[in-house]
Amino acid sequence: MDIINPATEALITTLEGDTAASAQKKYEQVRQGQPAWSQTPITERIATIARFSELLKNQADELAATLTQEMGKPLNQAHNELNGARGRIQYFVENSEKWLAEEVVTEEEGLVEKIAYEPLGVIANISAWNYPYLVGVNVFVPALIAGNAVLYKPSEYTTLTGLKIGELLHQAGVPENVFQVVVGGGKVGQALLELPLDGYFFTGSNRTGHYIYETVAPKMVPCQMELGGKDPLYVPNDNANVAKTAQAAAEGAFYNNGQSCCAVERVYVHQAIYDEFMEAFTQEVQQFKLGDPEEEGVFIGPLARQEQIAVLEQQVQDALDNGARLLTGGKKADRTGYYFEPTVLTNVNHQMQVMREESFGPIIGIQRVADDEEAVALMQDTDYGLTAAVYCDTQEKAKEILAKIDSGTAYWNCCDRVSATLPWSGRKKSGFGSTLSYQGIRTFTKPKAYHLRVMNNN
Ligand code: NAD
Repeated sequence: MDIINPATEALITTLEGDTAASAQKKYEQVRQGQPAWSQTPITERIATIARFSELLKNQADELAATLTQEMGKPLNQAHNELNGARGRIQYFVENSEKWLAEEVVTEEEGLVEKIAYEPLGVIANISAWNYPYLVGVNVFVPALIAGNAVLYKPSEYTTLTGLKIGELLHQAGVPENVFQVVVGGGKVGQALLELPLDGYFFTGSNRTGHYIYETVAPKMVPCQMELGGKDPLYVPNDNANVAKTAQAAAEGAFYNNGQSCCAVERVYVHQAIYDEFMEAFTQEVQQFKLGDPEEEGVFIGPLARQEQIAVLEQQVQDALDNGARLLTGGKKADRTGYYFEPTVLTNVNHQMQVMREESFGPIIGIQRVADDEEAVALMQDTDYGLTAAVYCDTQEKAKEILAKIDSGTAYWNCCDRVSATLPWSGRKKSGFGSTLSYQGIRTFTKPKAYHLRVMNNN
C-alpha cells in the first residue's frame, strides 16, 4: 500500500497490507483473547482506556503531524480532533461503569428480575478517514470497555493513524489478543465480512454501508451504520445576527474542508435577509486561507482523496448548466496537491446534484426561500437524515421547524457539532443505531434477562 501525502502528492511510505489469510489469523487471535478480557474487572478495562488517553495527550504533536501528512487536514484541526477524542474518552471513562452495571428491576418476595449487559464478543470496527480518532473512539473505546475484542480496520487513507492507535492501545495495556488493526482497503474489509464475527460497526459512505448490511444480514448479528449526510441549515427572517450566522454557517460548511459527515451541505435563507446573508457568507469564505496544512493559519488544506476533485467539478458543472451562479471558487486550485477552491453557488434548486448528493468537500449551495413552509419542505426533500440546523432568535421557532425534520440530530444556533453525552445516529440513508451517550455504551452489549426465583419447599 502506497501512503501518499495529499498536499504534496509525494509518497510517504509503502506498507504491507493484510490479506484474507492474515485477517483470519488476527480473528483467531482475538477470539481466543476475548473471554479473559471480558472477565477482567471493568474498572481495570476502564483504567487501560484512561492510559490510552494519556498517551494520546503525550504524543499529540507526533500524532497530529502524522494525521495531517496522510489525510491533509490543517495541523490545528488535527490537534482539535485529538482533543475532541480525549473528551469523548473521558465521557466513556466516567460513565461506562454506571451504564454497564447489572440492573435489578424487580425485587419481590421470592423473585428477583435483573438485566445483565454482556459483551457481544468479537466485533469489527470498519472506519472512515475524515475523523479517524473521533469516529474510531466512538466504537472501539466503548466496545473494549464493555468486554469485547475488536478487529479495527482504519480507512486506507489513514492507515498510519490506525496503526498508531493500535500501538498506543497495546502500550496502554489492551492485550494484543483483544485488539488488532487490520490494514488495507475494501478488499480486506470484505474479508472481515466473511469472518464469523459477533457484530459489525461501520462508519463510511452509504454505498459501502448498504453493501455491508446486505452481506452480513444472514449472520443475524448486530450491524450498525453511521453513514453520510446532506445536512441542511436554515436561516428564517427573525434573525437579529445575520452576519454572525453567516460566519457560523461558513465554518460549519468548510471546516475539515467540508469532509465531515455532519458538515453543512446546503443552506436555505429567507428572502427578507438573503442579500445580507450572501454578502457576509461570501466574504467569510473568501478570506479562508488555502494552503499547506502544516502552515499556521491555513483553514483549507487539500482533499484527502484525489478522486473527490472530479466529483466536485461535476457538481459545479451540473449546477452551472442548470442555471446556478458561482460566487466564488469552482475549480481545482492551481497548485500541486488535491486542492479545491472553497466554492459558493447560489440560484440553486433541488434538480441540481449539489443540493441532493453528498458533496464531502469545500462546496456549498445556498437557496433563497419565500417562507418557513418552503424551507421545511426543502429541508425534508432528501434521502439523508443526519443533522439539521436552524439559526433564529427564539428557541420555540427553531423547535417548531426542527420537529418536522426527520434527522437524528437537531441544532438551534449551532451546527457541525457532536456531543459525547448525546446519541449520534442517522435516519434514512444516513444509517441507524447510535454511538455516544449511554445508548452508545450499551450498543456493544447484549442484554441478558435474569428471572431469579427462590424455590419454596412447602
Ligand atoms: P467508504 O465507504 O469509502 O469507506 C469506509 C470504510 O469501508 C473504509 O475503511 C473502507 O476501506 C471500507 N470498505 C470499502 N469497501 C468495503 C467492503 N466491500 N467491505 C468492507 N469494507 C469496505 O467511506 P469513506 O470515504 O472512508 O468515508 C466517508 C463517508 O463516511 C462519508 O459519506 C461520510 O459522510 C461518512 N461518515 C459518516 C459518519 C457518521 O458518523 N455518520 C462519520 C464519518 C464519516
